[in-house]
Amino acid sequence: MGTATRVIAAALLVLGSTAAPARAQTGDVVQFFAGAALGLGLHESGHLLFDEAFGAEPAVRKVSAGFIPFFAITHEPVTPVEEFTISSAGFWVQHAGDEFLLSHRPNLRHEHAPFAKGLLAFNVLTSVMYAGTAFVQHGPVERDTLGMAVSADIAEPWIGATILAPALLDGARYYRPQSRTLRWASRGAKVAGALLLLKAARTEEARAQTSSSPR
Ligand SMILES: [Zn+2]
Repeated sequence: MGTATRVIAAALLVLGSTAAPARAQTGDVVQFFAGAALGLGLHESGHLLFDEAFGAEPAVRKVSAGFIPFFAITHEPVTPVEEFTISSAGFWVQHAGDEFLLSHRPNLRHEHAPFAKGLLAFNVLTSVMYAGTAFVQHGPVERDTLGMAVSADIAEPWIGATILAPALLDGARYYRPQSRTLRWASRGAKVAGALLLLKAARTEEARAQTSSSPR
């Protein structure tokens, strides 16, 4: 987790300082990071929305990601379907945000748009970082990919793959906006990931049967 967070911070710094031409204004860099900050706010809002919807009483816990103090949103135990929804919601918001940006501004790469680029960079890098933690199955217990893995009863590295695929495809769409293949592969990957909710529903059913069967 620590290394991954350092990588994402470094990558954002590099992107932020090279996103604009040499005469880049400090304002561009500030806007880039403001876009990234909005991305973080939207991701967490996605979790909170469903925490509230399911009455899961969210709370904030301090965690440390390497040298960076960070936070995790905790919540009361919920059903597998609710858990999968809450844990996935941050990614769903990222996916929707990328769809909006890449569909409405196919020329984004050539635009002077540090704010939008900061938001997109955050979304892509965050997913890549989360996929990395899912592959090594290491990080705070509140990590989104673990919540998804447990509730859908799927190995965490597979969850990582479902998070990584849309991120890489959206990253590629930024460079090749004219590609219909990339566009629809990305959308398909996002929908497929969300459909794992059905697997969580089956987990929920199985658990209910186990607990009600007479012994
Ligand atoms: Zn999250």
